[in-house]
Amino acid sequence: MNNQLSQLSLLELSQLLEAQEITAVELMETTVERYRQLDSDIKSFLYFDLDESLETAKKQDSLERKSALHGIPLAIKDNISRLGKPLTCSSKILAGHRPPYSATVVEKLEQAGGIFVGNTNMDEFAMGSSTETSAYQTTRNPWDLERVPGGSSGGSAAAVAAGIVPAALGSDTGGSIRQPAAFCGVVGFKPTYGRVSRYGLFPFASSLDQIGPIARTVSDVAFLTELLAGSDSRDSTSLDSPVPRYLEQLQPRAEGLTFGIPEEYFGEGVDSDVRQIIQQTIETLKQQGAEIKTVNLPHTKYAISTYYILATAEASSNLARYDGVQYGYRADEPDDLIDMYSRTRAEGFGPEVKRRIMLGTFVLSSGYYEAYYGKAQKLRTLIKQDFDRVYEECDLLLTPTTPSTAFKLGEKIDDPVQMYLSDILTASTNLAGLPAISIPVGQDSKQLPVGAQLIGPALSEQTVLNAAFMLEKQSQWDAKIAPVQA
Ligand code: GLN
Repeated sequence: MNNQLSQLSLLELSQLLEAQEITAVELMETTVERYRQLDSDIKSFLYFDLDESLETAKKQDSLERKSALHGIPLAIKDNISRLGKPLTCSSKILAGHRPPYSATVVEKLEQAGGIFVGNTNMDEFAMGSSTETSAYQTTRNPWDLERVPGGSSGGSAAAVAAGIVPAALGSDTGGSIRQPAAFCGVVGFKPTYGRVSRYGLFPFASSLDQIGPIARTVSDVAFLTELLAGSDSRDSTSLDSPVPRYLEQLQPRAEGLTFGIPEEYFGEGVDSDVRQIIQQTIETLKQQGAEIKTVNLPHTKYAISTYYILATAEASSNLARYDGVQYGYRADEPDDLIDMYSRTRAEGFGPEVKRRIMLGTFVLSSGYYEAYYGKAQKLRTLIKQDFDRVYEECDLLLTPTTPSTAFKLGEKIDDPVQMYLSDILTASTNLAGLPAISIPVGQDSKQLPVGAQLIGPALSEQTVLNAAFMLEKQSQWDAKIAPVQA
């Protein structure tokens, strides 16, 4: 029974709970057992509240069911606040920090009866594509323990792929939900910028950050997005637009839609296996009655430079608050205030975060501001206009999520430019604020998952989910978990 439960999707588990075929406590016991069996190898969790999760499950069993999420174990990325729970953004500088409030997304899922069991590992402050920049541990890909799970939400994607939890929350600034989802063979959704409140998310680059769900099926992701979305008076960038019933309206649909295939997303650097599997996905779309059109997003070649100027500029400002005064870590026995600030930051931040702060400070400095930050802002507008133009002639775009499948641990960590290129197919979407999903559509010759990305116009979540639902049905990937031995 236990290993069977870990194969099931969130909504399947929910049906069993609803029908009283299992209790929330039984489900939690299975979750704890699987965590114990697998996570010493995978290391997806920074911590797991064993006793409290079982206690909460017991409580949920005694209450009337609040929603389909009632009694479901969930994981959360270590940059989303839960009242009183340790949160570090996988950084030494936040060691010992416990947020004094919960994020809006946490309140929403807890009100619906979900149980957060613990926080997942990530790249430090969400800066990275492999989860190797975490100050605490390296998470391994459940499909191949010698490979990275992607990042920065690598712990969340790995925990879902290994069947420890059916779903987790991640954050996506330049690809951090979609890229790890693709590497781990799960579904990851970054909704439109502002669709989901960022209140309580530790900011990296506020104009790009978005919270979203990671799960094993499109239905689960549709269900969670519906719970997460909505305007929030505590996040002025959240959108005041009604939230559709994504799950109720979910239907496999490609017929009558035009899918744009952007030429720039199939260029140099995209592996032949990945290319071939996405080509098959395009064929599937055609067979299902979709129209396929080659389109151009000519400013794509500037996306990575633009992203790394804007994201680092915003990060240098957002991370100024970690100075040893209010949060977590403080250097021992400082000589004076300046020594305290500088040693706290020197000792508390890892090398990638320091690199980003220095880059960001540089591009904002007087004399260089116009040449870098100002120019990047202009390019961001051009990148957005590219999308506006193609959406006049097509409904959605289909691309690979990543240029390659999961790479080996250590392979790119000493070469930041190679690591930054991992985001080449995902970062433009954040710059334009658009919704995009990654779904597993096949395996390469090494049996590693390949993700397809669907990108839609702003607030087209339902169309994106429906097309993803169709591809999921066709690819027969439904809720497949990684072949890790318990
Ligand atoms: N990998 C990208 C970076 O390092 C994106 C990170 C993210 O989306 N949080 O910045």
